[in-house]
Amino acid sequence: MQIKSAEYKASYIDVAKCPKGEVPEFAFIGRSNVGKSSLINYLCGRKKLSKVSNTPGKTQTLNFFDINETLQFVDLPGYSFARVSIEMRNKWDNMIRNYILHREQLMYVFQLIDARIPPQKVDLEFIGWMGKNHVPLVVIFTKADKAGGKDTLQNIQTFKNELLKEWDELPVTFVTSAEKKHGKEAVLEFIEKEARSYYKQKKSQLEEEKENAS
Ligand code: GDP
Repeated sequence: MQIKSAEYKASYIDVAKCPKGEVPEFAFIGRSNVGKSSLINYLCGRKKLSKVSNTPGKTQTLNFFDINETLQFVDLPGYSFARVSIEMRNKWDNMIRNYILHREQLMYVFQLIDARIPPQKVDLEFIGWMGKNHVPLVVIFTKADKAGGKDTLQNIQTFKNELLKEWDELPVTFVTSAEKKHGKEAVLEFIEKEARSYYKQKKSQLEEEKENAS
C-alpha cells in the first residue's frame, strides 16, 4: 500500500465523543519518546503530520488521521511520562484504555517498542493488559537503525521471550527505523491486507442483510 493522502482530522479526549464511522482504524501506542510521531510520519511519507518533539508527553489527546480516505490512524498519547502528576497520568491512562476497549471500528493496536533498550516493565505491563483483554495487537519495534545489529536482535528476542512467558503465541511483529527509513513496506502491507478484509466482510454483511430483507 502507498499512502497517497494523509490528513489530520481531529482530536478527542473522550472515546464516547469520537465520531463513529465505517472506516477501519489502526491505533499507535507506546511509551513517550518511543518514536511514535516519527514512525507515523515515516509511514505517511510526511515530515510533520504527527509532531515530533523532544519533549515527551506532549500528545494528550486521541488524534485522528484520515489515510487515503479509506482508513484511519489514531495517535494515542504516550504512556509513562514521568513529568506529570499522578492524577494527570491516571486521566490519560483511562482515556487510552477506554478507547482501546470501546472503540468498535478499531482493528489493531500497534504497540511500539524501542529496539535499542531491553524490555521495559511498563511496556510489558501494558501489552499484558491488552493481551488479557483480547485486544488485537501488533508489535512494532522502533529505532532499529541497525536492524541486524547484535544489540537490536538481542533486545527484540528478549522482548519476545518475555511475552512467551505468559502467551502461547507471539503477535505479528515488525522492525522499523524512521531515521534510516526501513521497515515501512511490511507495516503498510499488513494494514492494507487487514483493511481489505474489513471491507470484504462489510460487503458480505450488507449482502446478507439485503438477502434477508427480500
Ligand atoms: P514520540 O514521543 O513517541 O512521538 O517520539 P518522537 O517521534 O517524537 O521521537 C522521539 C525522539 O526519538 C526524537 O528525538 C526522534 O528524533 C528520535 N527517533 C525517532 N525515531 C527514531 C529512529 O528510528 N532512530 C533514532 N535513532 N531515533 C529516532
